[in-house]
Amino acid sequence: MPKKIAILGSTGSIGISALKVVKKLSPSLQVVGLTAYRNAKELAQQVRAFRPKMAAILDWKFFPELKALTRGTSTQILAGPEGLVAVAGESGAQMVLSAIVGAAGLKPTLTAIQKGKDIALANKETMVMAGEVVTKAAKRSGSRILPVDSEHCAVFQCLNGASPKDVHKILLTASGGPFRNLDRSKFSGITRAQALKHPTWRMGPKITIDSATLMNKGLEVIEAHYLFNAPYPKIDIVIHPESIIHSMVEFVDGSVLAQLGTTDMQIPIQYAFTHPKRADSPVERLDMTKVGRLHFERPDRVKFPCVGLAYEAGRKGGTYPAVLNAANEVAVHRFLEGKIKFTAIPRIIEKTLSRYRSLTTGGLDGILWADRWAREQASKVN
Ligand code: NAD
Ligand code: MG
Repeated sequence: MPKKIAILGSTGSIGISALKVVKKLSPSLQVVGLTAYRNAKELAQQVRAFRPKMAAILDWKFFPELKALTRGTSTQILAGPEGLVAVAGESGAQMVLSAIVGAAGLKPTLTAIQKGKDIALANKETMVMAGEVVTKAAKRSGSRILPVDSEHCAVFQCLNGASPKDVHKILLTASGGPFRNLDRSKFSGITRAQALKHPTWRMGPKITIDSATLMNKGLEVIEAHYLFNAPYPKIDIVIHPESIIHSMVEFVDGSVLAQLGTTDMQIPIQYAFTHPKRADSPVERLDMTKVGRLHFERPDRVKFPCVGLAYEAGRKGGTYPAVLNAANEVAVHRFLEGKIKFTAIPRIIEKTLSRYRSLTTGGLDGILWADRWAREQASKVN
């Protein structure tokens, strides 16, 4: 019997890599659900190629186009946020790949968890904003959350079921982004095109900007906290420009385990799909003799204030990570639109966080309220 998979965000960078994995591993994997934001053409092509039970487009404006382009297929075509939730919960999937970018992924991902489906988690923003809600819901329903983020997939493989008390440190590696060696005095002149050029990974625009500010690593620290039940002092960031070691775990006895590989997201996506088994893959092999040398350094927290902001919000807990995430999403969006400077991104997040007075301890309603509040603030401050 094939394993049935729904892919939320199938037209994105992760979604497209995931469909390559499915194609390669078919017939042991089968796609039963697909979703996209607005790209009806690409989604229709995917529907024709993979024949899922359901497909949904978020923006109703593109529903007629998607309907027309998929005429003659047996796929049920849906739209709107309810359409995405239906694909997550009702498409008959055993596993849901959560690969929407940003907070928009929260509701469909949570729905899949509540229905007891296993989650292959790429959408880190969901874990950052609602880590407690999500992990509690997974415990209740028996849903397993398998990390797709390359660092967390690495940590997951290194841990291999080890008890948290045996872990001394989780060491998340980071490429350092395109501005690792750029002098801080030049940061205010950084353009959109420069920030969109990641040195080692090809990804969607939001995570690429997050990698340039190092907020991506900050979000990943919070993601690791919830995924691995690790206190913040046990999670460190190591800059590793080659992106060959995807992360490491240092155990209490002094042993350090690392997971290595080429920079191809098909590897962690496939691992989440096949876990606990492994399957052959045609990805480029890692040749250590070609790599030659690996380098490591500490992150520069003055040049990259987002790291400290993320640790602070993570430590405060409650709804602070949701505020951090929302302010970051708004700031990145404003930067991508050419409305603010690169250096305004951390400033907007910091100002939003400093104005926040948490009235709730969490819970989904509190999180959604904090998310809305932070978006409004972050779109006003400069
Ligand atoms: P992307 O921008 O390439 O794709 C995003 C997908 O989500 C698209 O299918 C898009 O149609 C859909 N989408 C966007 N906004 C939406 C909305 N408001 N509602 C519904 N659907 C929406 O992004 P990506 O690079 O594939 O990243 C997806 C997620 O995976 C992010 O959370 C990112 O942090 C995480 N991630 C990505 C990579 C990578 O290599 N790309 C690596 C690790 C983690
Ligand atoms: Mg990552």
